Amino acid sequence: MLKVLKFGGSSLSDAGQFKKVADIIRSDPARRYVVVSAPGKRGPHDEKITDLLLQCFRLIRDRRSIDETFEKITSRYDEIVAGLGLDISLKEEYDGIRAAILHHADPEYITSRGEYLSARLMAQYLDFPFIDAEDCIFFNEDGTVDLEESIRVLKNLFTMYDYAVIPGFYGQFPDGSIETFSRGGSDITGSIVAAAANADVYENWTDVSGMLMADPRIVDDPKTIEEITYRELRELSYMGATVLHDEAIFPVRKAHIPINIRNTNIPDNPGTMIVPKAQSNVVDTIITGVAGKRGMTAINIEKDMMNSEIGFGKKVLEVLEEHGLSFEHLPSGIDTMTVIINSASLIECKGALTAEIVKKVNPDSITVTENLALIAVVGRGMIGTVGSAARVFSALSQHGVDVKMIDQGSSQLSVIIGVDEKKYEDAIRAIYDAFVK
Ligand code: ASP
Repeated sequence: MLKVLKFGGSSLSDAGQFKKVADIIRSDPARRYVVVSAPGKRGPHDEKITDLLLQCFRLIRDRRSIDETFEKITSRYDEIVAGLGLDISLKEEYDGIRAAILHHADPEYITSRGEYLSARLMAQYLDFPFIDAEDCIFFNEDGTVDLEESIRVLKNLFTMYDYAVIPGFYGQFPDGSIETFSRGGSDITGSIVAAAANADVYENWTDVSGMLMADPRIVDDPKTIEEITYRELRELSYMGATVLHDEAIFPVRKAHIPINIRNTNIPDNPGTMIVPKAQSNVVDTIITGVAGKRGMTAINIEKDMMNSEIGFGKKVLEVLEEHGLSFEHLPSGIDTMTVIINSASLIECKGALTAEIVKKVNPDSITVTENLALIAVVGRGMIGTVGSAARVFSALSQHGVDVKMIDQGSSQLSVIIGVDEKKYEDAIRAIYDAFVK
């Protein structure tokens, strides 16, 4: 059994959190390769180390002093060193980083130092070898990760090291400089390391006990999802229910490795398992989760005999393409076609877009419905379960929610519903209650 673990910033925010992390790692000898983030917030008004480093970069760019901010950073690490009782000084590291910042180092190098120092300390505390991410995570010229090369090098390193701590978030650019993933990117490092180690599980430790069936800001105390498939996760995270960086899924999914979302503060809680294939499609609640997003616009195009007009859809989509727009959904009827687009991307071009569609396909009518919310009801338990869609729609009608659009994937894994934004929260609660309470 081999486990790769990744700990997020809140799990490493101070010495007390470092100790919890070390206890988790030491409690299971299968927990061998550990990826860490930079220390995060200790409370709601605190600052993340990565943000402080970014602030240093901006100060330098604006030719201002970094002294105060840099001191905040070093004192955070010094507190951790003292709290862990480590007999080391980071002075040399600080001096090197400070000198690099003052010499106009790029923002990637500067922000990467949060993870670097975090991993150095964790390796020291655990007495594990430290493997620098710049020696094993490689990027391509276009900024994407070179998965093949990273995995090849990591595999080789793992033949030499049975245990290791690796900083998340950054790696090496082809010119030898440091490159980072987008924010939250330590999840991706963990996923690559898990794939390279051919781990039995990728444990992603954070400050929540897994994924919830619905947004807790809308539904009171929603249930935790025990098991979810990668496909279901994709449907829910597309709708904004994220616990992981989107790009973190790919390396482990490809290697058929499950992800276990766990809570550093409640380590006994089993959390959520994200699996390539579920043990069973029978789920007590039938649905796995419900999520949604506001801020959608529907452009509804009607034309008699549209179905027999070859190339109609293509022409409409060409207009979108010319405006650099992507669509979220494309439900269609016999003589109607609806394009659902994120409203934010339409702010500047809505008028021109509809005018061009009119010019290109000469429809009988074109109407624009704004302030639409989309809701995805997701669950492998719905596949073949008679009446699950009926349950969704009767719950919505009982709560006076007018359904403006329905799109059911042919896999029956999800039903997507468009409702007025004002009814968004009511709709989420109604659907959740219909299945869970
Ligand atoms: N420290 C980085 C951030 O704050 C990366 C990470 O934590 O995953 O975004």
